[in-house]
Amino acid sequence: MTANPKQVLRDVFGYDAFRGPQESIVAHVCAGGSALVLMPTGGGKSLCYQIPALCRPGTAVVVSPLIALMQDQVGALRQAGVRAAALHSAESADAVAATWRQLQGGQLDLLYVSPERLLNGDLIERLADLPLALFAIDEAHCVSQWGHDFRPEYLQLAVLAERFSAIPRIALTATADPRTRAEIVARLGLEQAAVFLASFDRPNIRYVLRDKSEPRRQLLAFLDTQRGHSGIVYARSRKRVEEFATALKAAGHDALPYHAGLAAETRSAALERFRLGSGVVVVATIAFGMGIDKPDVRFVAHVDLPKSLEAYYQETGRAGRDGLSAVAWMLHGSSDVPPLRRFIDDSDADPAQKRIEHGRLDALIGFAEASSCRRRILLSYLGEADSSDCGNCDVCLEPNQGADVTEPARKALSAVYRTGGRFGAAHLVDVLLGGETARIRSLGHDQLGVHGIGKELDRGQWRSLFRQLSARGYLVAAADGHGGLQFGDDALVRPLLRGETRLEIRLPPAAKQRRGAAVGAGAGGGPPAPADNADPGLLAALKAWRLEQARQQGLPPYVVFHDRTLIAIAERRPTVLEDLAGITGIGTAKLASYGEAVLAVVGSQTAPA
Ligand code: ADP
Ligand code: ZN
Repeated sequence: MTANPKQVLRDVFGYDAFRGPQESIVAHVCAGGSALVLMPTGGGKSLCYQIPALCRPGTAVVVSPLIALMQDQVGALRQAGVRAAALHSAESADAVAATWRQLQGGQLDLLYVSPERLLNGDLIERLADLPLALFAIDEAHCVSQWGHDFRPEYLQLAVLAERFSAIPRIALTATADPRTRAEIVARLGLEQAAVFLASFDRPNIRYVLRDKSEPRRQLLAFLDTQRGHSGIVYARSRKRVEEFATALKAAGHDALPYHAGLAAETRSAALERFRLGSGVVVVATIAFGMGIDKPDVRFVAHVDLPKSLEAYYQETGRAGRDGLSAVAWMLHGSSDVPPLRRFIDDSDADPAQKRIEHGRLDALIGFAEASSCRRRILLSYLGEADSSDCGNCDVCLEPNQGADVTEPARKALSAVYRTGGRFGAAHLVDVLLGGETARIRSLGHDQLGVHGIGKELDRGQWRSLFRQLSARGYLVAAADGHGGLQFGDDALVRPLLRGETRLEIRLPPAAKQRRGAAVGAGAGGGPPAPADNADPGLLAALKAWRLEQARQQGLPPYVVFHDRTLIAIAERRPTVLEDLAGITGIGTAKLASYGEAVLAVVGSQTAPA
């Protein structure tokens, strides 16, 4: 095997160029240096240690926290002709014996191990006698006690620095939080290691937020734009997960519920269907998370607010790992906030930690209510002060920010005042829209001057306005806890009522305009839809062929070929192996095992006229 990284990238993985900081990381580790790699999900962390593993003599040992992750990585590497194996509790005794033989005989390029397996028993002793290329510690944030993925065994990995001081160690994580970074460095003895920090931007993910009015109907309308795509829908509670999953199934989606209340077998079956299938939608609580490295998740939808902006970033980051366009879609409404606040208050964290959690929630609410580019807010929160608007979020794509809402806001405040500060937004909106309900009549609210003066906005816009007036302190909930709205800060309210200040707020478009304009993966600016120029008939045939290959080998389809590769084939229609070899994701081994079969599929589908 050649030792040139560029050549390995081309021959083994079938890629033409390194991405972002990959090239310098690979060069550094190949030269024997240790590294901490911080890169977003989908950034391409695996190649940062896989290529040095192939360029350096000896076996690379990769510590990975989840069996499913190891299996997928080993499966994908073997498809690419790399000698890889895993040691963990799900391997048969025969497989373990074979792995030992290969390891001892110097026939393994990469060995994946769980931390338990590495640290218990005599594996460390045995490794000490073998030539080792490097240690890679994947998902290195598992060492952090702050994070929710904390794994106590990761702490013991400190032993690697002591026992194997001459072997390069490379720790990798998609967690951007500075505190977690510092903890990784301290606990894994990486003080001397080079730190490689990639941008945490995920430019192929489109961020789309919507005011929550009728979550079920809104979700179904969104999913209509995503038919046939794999995706995740996050909801707050088990009960809501079940409800939404049922509704999606009734609407003809291949949807599955996933939450901690389900039996372990049911959960692993759901995970398996999601990994191996295409077009499967998992409706889940946050219990569904780590270990999902499916690259072709096309959307992540939140029907309830996540608990922080970090959580939002992590959860939405599961979309579009393959770099093709994907959507992060979220409904938000003020009713989401009180349960999240209660959750923090009721936890047994100390007061300082609770204040931090409340602050994190505030950042999320600020993001949701923002009238400037979502991505800029997200990235600045992650410590990247970016200067330009992204052109691929709802704010950038549907600019109506800063609409002057001074008059409607005064009407809203008048409605609060005239009705005595005892009513919630729903009733106030009814009054402003001139509703003739029994309640309005019995209260005499149809006799008020504010009755029916608000026809310029529709119900959804009024609700949003009330929410935003609350978020900005113009209105507050009455102290009796019954949800009535009252005037907030006098210094805000008075000048507005007197007409001394003006107010600009971004409102959702009117429902009439909104209908049929749901944002899908391909609508408007941003990266192209996944298969813009591919011949759809050929692409479908290639996918069917891939599914069959994957089934026969018990592998997820993307391990055979990524969507990106099939799309490139369907665009270029290669007729000879030579042309096929030039396509992204087709290295020497895949060309040999699948080349002829792929050409046959292309040949069987006549080109469109
Ligand atoms: P991470 O572990 O950082 O989430 P992966 O290592 O799984 O990301 O890589 C994400 C996807 O990008 C994978 O499908 C991988 O094959 C692909 N990829 C990584 N590096 C490159 C590259 N240089 N060129 C093309 N595709 C790449
Ligand atoms: Zn934007």
